[in-house]
Amino acid sequence: MSEIEKTNCLIIGSGPAGYTAAIYAARADMNPVMYEGLQPGGQLTTTNEVENFPGYPEGITGPEMMIELKKQAQRFDTDVRPGFIEKVDFSGDVHKCWSDDGKEIHAKTVIIATGASAKYLGLPSEQKYLEMGGGVSACAVCDGFFYKGQETVIVGAGDSACEEAHYLSKLCTKVTMLVRRDEFRASKIMEDRVKKTENIEILFNTETEEVLGDDNGVTGVRVINNKTKETHEIPCTGFFVAIGHKPNTDIFKDYLNTDEVGYISYEQPGTSRTNVAGVFVAGDAADKTYRQAVTAAGTGCMAALDAERYLAALEG
Ligand code: NDP
Repeated sequence: MSEIEKTNCLIIGSGPAGYTAAIYAARADMNPVMYEGLQPGGQLTTTNEVENFPGYPEGITGPEMMIELKKQAQRFDTDVRPGFIEKVDFSGDVHKCWSDDGKEIHAKTVIIATGASAKYLGLPSEQKYLEMGGGVSACAVCDGFFYKGQETVIVGAGDSACEEAHYLSKLCTKVTMLVRRDEFRASKIMEDRVKKTENIEILFNTETEEVLGDDNGVTGVRVINNKTKETHEIPCTGFFVAIGHKPNTDIFKDYLNTDEVGYISYEQPGTSRTNVAGVFVAGDAADKTYRQAVTAAGTGCMAALDAERYLAALEG
């Protein structure tokens, strides 16, 4: 049997939420242990330029920002570990967690900062330009600015797609929205807003066949009408995917309250508390609305402060 390790504070996940929680927890002498997770640095590591995080007047790349956050957390002796937590048991007073390298960790407090993953279509051409940072994005608020004065295409018909299409319409000369059915999923008000926007063209029953491009990035999209089977090409430099996110919360499902998609519910709004005492959540694992690095960092701070107060109360 492996030795049991005890900690005051276990942080699961290493995006802006996890690192901010680590900085606060470490400075409060909680000696936090962090497991970086499957995607060290989180979603920002797939973003090129971050221009909307306060404090970087010239902007910073996502991967660089995550290196800075990691250094800041380690400066105060956060024990940052590669690997991930694969199983938890939150049924007792001590929260048991198992890492992929076989460690059993008993934590007085756990901060969940496992984030969410944007869904993509899965086309090889989409993945190619995503990986090369050349015109595929799942976040208009993050990347829309780079397509100012250009033409973009966005896939999806939910509230996110409508919100992002509207956001892009203010920056881009034209936005083409690809809706796979003959109706929207979004709320009526959001649907009406995109329909009323002059430079948004909506193509119903339309799916993406291939993202087209060259060595510099995306140049267009070939789409197919799934009723008529007719195909045509749409020129664009930015291809946005807004078909939903999946919160990375599967391992907590047996213990924590979530909504129907899996976003962890806050036990008390305005705090980071979950329904299990001593377990806190920060960032996109509980946020389907804002999903920004700065909001994740803010809730990471809240989680560390809540965990610190919980520990202080335990110790009486
Ligand atoms: P949703 O799951 O609501 O919508 C996803 C959309 O993507 C659907 O239109 C779906 O099509 C489409 N889609 C899924 N897979 C594909 C695919 N492979 N190809 C083409 N299209 C695809 O996700 P959202 O992110 O939009 O919203 C998530 C939640 O967050 C919702 O509850 C929403 O109301 C909420 N939200 C609220 C906002 C607000 O109020 N301001 C803003 C943003 C989100 P289909 O309809 O055919 O299934």
